[in-house]
Amino acid sequence: MLASGACERIGEGDSTFTFKTKDVNQRLTLAILNHRTAISLVLGTLLAHQDDAPIDAIGHRIVHGGSYFKDSCVVDDTVIRKIEEIAPLAPLHNYAAASVIESCREVLPQVPSVVCFDTSFHSTIPEVAYRYPLPDDLCESLQLRKYGFHGISHRYVAMTCDQLTEGRCHRLISCHLGNGSSISAIKDGVCVDTTMGFTPLDGLMMGTRCGSIDPAAVTYIIENTDYNAHDIDMIMNKKSGLLAVSGLTNDIRDLIDASEHGDRRSQLALDMFGYDTRKYIGMMWAVMGGVDTLAFTAGAGQNSPDIRRLALAGMEGLGFKIDETLNAQHRDEPWRISADDSEVEIYVIPAGEEYMIALDVKRLLGGD
Ligand code: AMP
Repeated sequence: MLASGACERIGEGDSTFTFKTKDVNQRLTLAILNHRTAISLVLGTLLAHQDDAPIDAIGHRIVHGGSYFKDSCVVDDTVIRKIEEIAPLAPLHNYAAASVIESCREVLPQVPSVVCFDTSFHSTIPEVAYRYPLPDDLCESLQLRKYGFHGISHRYVAMTCDQLTEGRCHRLISCHLGNGSSISAIKDGVCVDTTMGFTPLDGLMMGTRCGSIDPAAVTYIIENTDYNAHDIDMIMNKKSGLLAVSGLTNDIRDLIDASEHGDRRSQLALDMFGYDTRKYIGMMWAVMGGVDTLAFTAGAGQNSPDIRRLALAGMEGLGFKIDETLNAQHRDEPWRISADDSEVEIYVIPAGEEYMIALDVKRLLGGD
C-alpha cells in the first residue's frame, strides 16, 4: 500500500479528507458537497504525490450489481448505464458510485477503471436459497430476491483460507462482523448462501440495523403509527440493532466496556448479537451438511477476542473449539485460533477488500 485515505461525511458541512503515505499524514475538515467534488480532491492529491508510481488503473467498489454483474469488469459506457439502471435497488450507493466513475474518466481519460461488486460473489447461490416465496409477478417486476452483500470481503476470506489450509478448505463459513455483518456458506470457493438478502438489512442484527425480523411487524407499525415507509426504512437501518437495544451506542468496543461496568442493556445487546451469530453459523453448518473451516473478518471479527468467543460459545458439539491463548492475540496478518483438537480450523483474517479489488484490476487489465 503506497497511500490510503478517505472522504467522510460527504454532503455535510463538516466533511473530512484524510490522506496518508509514508511521508504524509494529513486530515482536513472542509465542505465536500458531493461525490464528484470528493473524487476530484482524491485524484488531485494522488496526482500531486504520485512521484514515480503513476496511476495505471482505478478499481471501484460498487454495492449492487443486480442480476447483471456476476464478476468484476472493465468499465465502458454500457457498464455505467447498467449500474445506473440497477441504482433503484441501492439508491444511496450506486448513483454516487456511477458519478465517481464518470469523474475519474473525465479527469484521467486514458486510465481504465474496473468495477467490483459486493453482490457478484453471491451470484452462485442456488434458486432454492435466493428465491423469495412471494408471487412470481412481484419477484419479476421488482427483481425481488436474495442478492447478498460484503461479497468482495467473503471472496477474499475464501481465497485466503484456501491458501492457509493448503486446499483443505472445502466447506467454509465466513463471518464478516463489523458495523454491518453477514455470514456466508462457501463450498469449494463457491458461495452457496449468505445472511444478507434483497438489501443489506437482512440477517444478523447489526450496529444500527435490526437484521431479520418478522416482516409483518413492518406493516403493523405502518398501520398503528404515523410513520411512513421511508421513516421505517430509516428506523430499521439507522436506529435499530445494537444501538437500539443498548440505548447507548452501536460501537461494540464501547458496549463491551459498558457491560463490564454492569450496564444491563449493553450486556443484552451483546448477548443478542452473539446469539444471532451462533444461530446463523448453525444455519450455514446445516446448509453445507458440515464445516471444515470458519473465519472471522471485519472490525469486530478481526479485533475482538470477546466477540469471537461469544460467536462460538457452546458450539463444541458442531466441532468448533477455540484456543484462548491464540484468540487473545492481535496480528495484522491472518492467524489460526482453533485448538489442536478442534474439528473445524478457525482463522482470523484481517479484511482485504482493497487487496481483492487490486487483484481483480490486475486480472482484468493484465500487467504488473
Ligand atoms: P467495520 O464496519 O468493519 O469497520 O467495523 C467497525 C466496527 O468494528 C466498530 O463499530 C466496532 O463496533 C467494531 N470493532 C472495531 N475494533 C474493535 C475491537 N477492538 N473490539 C470490539 N469491536 C471492535
